Amino acid sequence: MAYLNENYLKLKAGYLFPEIARRVKLFCDGNPEAAQRLIRCGIGDVTEPLPEAACRAIHRAVDEMGKRETFRGYGPEQGYEFLRTAIAANDYESRGIDVTPDEIFVSDGSKCDSANFLDVLGSKNKIAVMDPVYPVYVDTNVMVGNTGDANGTGQYPGLVYLPCTAENGFVPEIPAEAVDIIYLCYPNNPTGAVATREQLTAWVEYARRHRAIILYDAAYVAYVRDADVPLSIYEIEGARECAVEFRSFSKNGGFTGTRCAFTVVPKDLNGYTESGEAVSLHRLWGRRMSTKFNGVSYPIQRGAESLYSPEGKLQVQTLVDHYMGNAEILVNGAKAAGLTVFGGVNAPYIWIRTPDGLGSWEVFDRILNQANVVITPGAGFGGGGEGYFRISAFNSRANAEEVARRLKELKW
Ligand SMILES: *Cc1c(COP(=O)(O)O)cnc(C)c1O
Repeated sequence: MAYLNENYLKLKAGYLFPEIARRVKLFCDGNPEAAQRLIRCGIGDVTEPLPEAACRAIHRAVDEMGKRETFRGYGPEQGYEFLRTAIAANDYESRGIDVTPDEIFVSDGSKCDSANFLDVLGSKNKIAVMDPVYPVYVDTNVMVGNTGDANGTGQYPGLVYLPCTAENGFVPEIPAEAVDIIYLCYPNNPTGAVATREQLTAWVEYARRHRAIILYDAAYVAYVRDADVPLSIYEIEGARECAVEFRSFSKNGGFTGTRCAFTVVPKDLNGYTESGEAVSLHRLWGRRMSTKFNGVSYPIQRGAESLYSPEGKLQVQTLVDHYMGNAEILVNGAKAAGLTVFGGVNAPYIWIRTPDGLGSWEVFDRILNQANVVITPGAGFGGGGEGYFRISAFNSRANAEEVARRLKELKW
């Protein structure tokens, strides 16, 4: 008899995006005409084509693979030196941040890395997540057995939920209790909030005091426009001793379907054995990657490298400007519709309070039926998301304008 990992049975079946898809299909089947004008602002996936620099670099690399003289087999598990050097120089050294190429691990995605990092962490950690939360952080902790069964409100005992509210600017307060692992994501999905230098400093000080680790997800860093918002957790003094940083080419280079990301594990970062002995997590993560991963394909790493070339940087900026132009249109449309709006300034997500205290799924149904627009109900991101909904700015300009127009016509 083959036993299974029963932790998977604790996962809630009605996962957010399948439930959205179910409701959208039901609506479209019943309203074929309205289905024609449906606009999707739900899932956070990019819509615009790859930057030309990336396409050319990938083509060139494929041609190299087709010739005996330039063919390459397995690459280094940690990623090619050319890409790690480009990352260190452009994302860190250029901003005076101390991260070296050998502290960078190239991978096929930040979602995967944030999940896989649990491999090198023990099972006795007290884990804190933001609420609302990117569901991957919660579900991956459920899968490895770090939680009990979900309770009536859908929260898992064993996790510490840190409320992110309009009052605290969607940046959680430092908890009174000691936790060991803290997931932070800024710019934030789903709220579009950013954390200030002071707020991140308080978290780094907390983590150092408790010998805790911050898992810092900076997937949306390219969208930061305010000059005083930190672009990396390592801009904060002491973060090299307490933080891992996840970055991805998905949202800046439009690589969601191309797949390339990286994780920074500083050599100053330790975890502890039960007897209290400090051990380098850089060493453990390196071991994990070389055993369980064989690297990102050579052409894709060349594509990622090209995003750091002068033309690649310009093209990434054009992409980001496009989505942030959408965000501005959506923010203005939602405000003109009388809604209370957050985010959309340093992130491609607009986080909107449901009017009249309506439930977020109720608002989802109303916007789908009246405006034929798919949004994401806040409740899908946990209890703290109830009372809000998210609109994604990942769309064509014409769709963003049309959604803004339809929002203004909604009758609540
Ligand atoms: C999109 C996204 C990522 C990127 O994931 P990839 O696996 O690199 O595509 C990471 N974190 C959050 C919160 C995201 O929304």
